[in-house]
Amino acid sequence: MEHEYDYLIVGGGMTADAAAKAMREADAAARIGLVGAELHAPYERPPLSKALWKDDKPVESIDLGTAKTGAVLHLGRRIVALDRVAHTATDDHGDVYRYRKLLLATGAAPRRLPFDGERVIDFRTLDDYLALRRYAKPGAQIAVVGAGFIGSEIAASLAGKGCTVTMLFPGDGIGAGRYPRGLSNFLGGYYRERGVTLRAGVRVIDGRNTGDRVDVTLSDGTTVQFDAVVAGLGVTPNVDLAVAAGLAVDNGIVVDAQLRSSDPDIFSAGDVASFPCAPLGMRLRVEHENAAIGMGHHAGRVMAGADDAYTTLPFFYSDLFDLGYEAVGLLDDRLEVVEQWTQPYREGVVYYLDGGRVRGVLLWNTWGQVEPARDLIAAPGPFDADNVRGKLPRPV
Ligand SMILES: Cc1cc2nc3c(=O)[nH]c(=O)nc-3n(C[C@H](O)[C@H](O)[C@H](O)COP(=O)(O)OP(=O)(O)OC[C@H]3O[C@@H](n4cnc5c(N)ncnc54)[C@H](O)[C@@H]3O)c2cc1C
Repeated sequence: MEHEYDYLIVGGGMTADAAAKAMREADAAARIGLVGAELHAPYERPPLSKALWKDDKPVESIDLGTAKTGAVLHLGRRIVALDRVAHTATDDHGDVYRYRKLLLATGAAPRRLPFDGERVIDFRTLDDYLALRRYAKPGAQIAVVGAGFIGSEIAASLAGKGCTVTMLFPGDGIGAGRYPRGLSNFLGGYYRERGVTLRAGVRVIDGRNTGDRVDVTLSDGTTVQFDAVVAGLGVTPNVDLAVAAGLAVDNGIVVDAQLRSSDPDIFSAGDVASFPCAPLGMRLRVEHENAAIGMGHHAGRVMAGADDAYTTLPFFYSDLFDLGYEAVGLLDDRLEVVEQWTQPYREGVVYYLDGGRVRGVLLWNTWGQVEPARDLIAAPGPFDADNVRGKLPRPV
């Protein structure tokens, strides 16, 4: 079967949804097509590890309503080839989609454990959430592999549901490498007080499904049994299609300030795109909701005729039990880390400095400061540990 669109969106995530909405706003008559590999229409991903667990909200509440744009949604279909000369994309059923302009919003795929099985979930999608929910009964013993964003959120959510949670991770602590050591240590204690067992410094090297349990073998030689295993091991960008089509790819699909790839009729945005981040003066590829929505929207507008640059420095947020934060820029403890606590590890600001500039800001239970943090990162400085303290929070 053949389809013809002015704008074809490959991918069915939050970026795709934001793009479809922006295209429709800018071009009332456009024929918009969206091809998404998941069976679900675009939905919000962040609630999968947070809000859906806390409030027992129905999964329908996370639907983004993309269909209201009039875009035709081809779901459960994966684009497997692009012909840039013919301006066509072909899906895994053999359908061909003609496009005038194309958006690659293929996102990212979770890194996988070295074994699989029904009770082993590399957490990323709504189906993964539904699968985990089946096992997340009070008292169920669940291993959470990884102590980054996803692992720490899922562990808190499962503990909140009365599961017996064990976190397994190779690093020193929760968020190690990103948060200052004291904060990471505090979080470890916070999780333990809420019944979570932390096994730091171990890798999961193998696993075996044994009926209704999973045997997990760790790098310290021990084997532990769980009812289910859920992994948050980070993601890799879905660039295969772009690579095969000969587009420039370097840790993501390389785009310019207008989010255009090395082919002027192909754009890319969201988790898969490597974009020039003017405020930091470097290329970035980020896996944040704010970037998915902002870049998706921007790409949609540019595809429909706008020509301005995407200049936003995306921010990230997370909730861990009743703690929460927003973060802007680079969070890396190899930078100079300056901590400013109003209440130690409960409320404060952490600045990440390099070469006299602020490169990142962690706003720990400190709200309404994303814009001031962006301004601080854009400011020429020079900043050091003494003069940066007190720059935030700024009265708003
Ligand atoms: C559990 C979870 C919690 C999160 N929490 C937060 C948070 O608190 N704060 C925050 O800022 N960010 C958070 N994020 C990150 C944020 O959700 C992502 O950055 C954002 O959803 C990325 O959107 P995307 O559309 O670019 O990519 P994706 O969400 O990866 O969507 C891409 C879609 O395209 C499909 N696809 C891929 N290849 C093809 C193809 N060839 N053909 C057709 N379809 C294809 C994929 O199946 C997928 O459905 C979270 C992510 C997860 C998984």
